[in-house]
Amino acid sequence: REAGLEALKDVPSETQDGVNISLLVNTGLQTDVIRSQDRGADGVGLFRTEVPFMLRERFPSEEEQALIYRAQLQAFSPLPVTMRTLDVGGDKSLAYFPIVEDNPFLGWRGLRVMLDHPELFMVQIRAMLRASVNLNNLKIMLPMVTSVSEVEESLALIHRAVMELNEEGVNAQVPHIGVMVEVPSAVYLVREFASQVDFISVGSNDLTQYLLAVDRNNPRVAGIYDAMHPAVLKALKMVVDAGNEANVPVSLCGELAGDPLGAVTLVGLGYRQLSMSSSNLLRVKAVLRQIDSGWAQTVASGLLHLDNPRVVRSTLRLALRKAG
Ligand code: PEP
Ligand code: MG
Repeated sequence: REAGLEALKDVPSETQDGVNISLLVNTGLQTDVIRSQDRGADGVGLFRTEVPFMLRERFPSEEEQALIYRAQLQAFSPLPVTMRTLDVGGDKSLAYFPIVEDNPFLGWRGLRVMLDHPELFMVQIRAMLRASVNLNNLKIMLPMVTSVSEVEESLALIHRAVMELNEEGVNAQVPHIGVMVEVPSAVYLVREFASQVDFISVGSNDLTQYLLAVDRNNPRVAGIYDAMHPAVLKALKMVVDAGNEANVPVSLCGELAGDPLGAVTLVGLGYRQLSMSSSNLLRVKAVLRQIDSGWAQTVASGLLHLDNPRVVRSTLRLALRKAG
């Protein structure tokens, strides 16, 4: 499927009118690192740290985590690596940390678990900070944030970890810290987040699930789960507009970014940083290099008023075909 795309690895990721779009990768396993480098990624937009946790029989120690994180940071240095703090619960479970609930997606997941277990959070943050010493390409990202107080609590812990390490003689630096927008409340809090953190990253997989009230893994309702739903697109527009207004960079790291039609839509809505599975990166770059950002903006604003995701996709395909 990728035949002929390899040549795009080293060409700039920009639209016909010269607007640069950063294309980053989502990683989890160490093997993702090599694949990403083959595709000329601009860095890591989402390192799912729960993946190495899932491969073990117990929580990895600070030392073990630091080694894993160091490998990612070193592989991409000087490009940025955005590490998400542990995002368990919901569909991501650890055998050695069982969570049993009636509504896992509305329950104890992501940052909620970490803030109830600051000792686990601190070990992970300390490991990340130690791994980044002398490289300083670490960014830390918080998943499943639903309110400002969670951000404040997390920031306090991260700053405490930096201080602790400095007192121990480790040259740790405060990294860039960001918030994921993946639940509806967060869509309305971008301005507040922007005053606290350095970047925003939209998790469109969960945001779609929560906006449309449809389980992202339930095949019975899979037909309703679609990030190209006009209501989701309106939310995505609100988030990027609020971020621009507050002068805080907004990226998107859900599957939508790796879908060529999704990527065109996102650029039209104003997104300039997309993070995706490395297998989609060159295909997305190929499409973005063929479009004009002004054209994409006009097309995307028309999509917001359509009836359903099916019409959105067909309208977009037609517009792309017309544009040649
Ligand atoms: C998302 O929710 O869009 C996301 C990127 O995170 P995950 O798929 O790991 O929940
Ligand atoms: Mg998510």
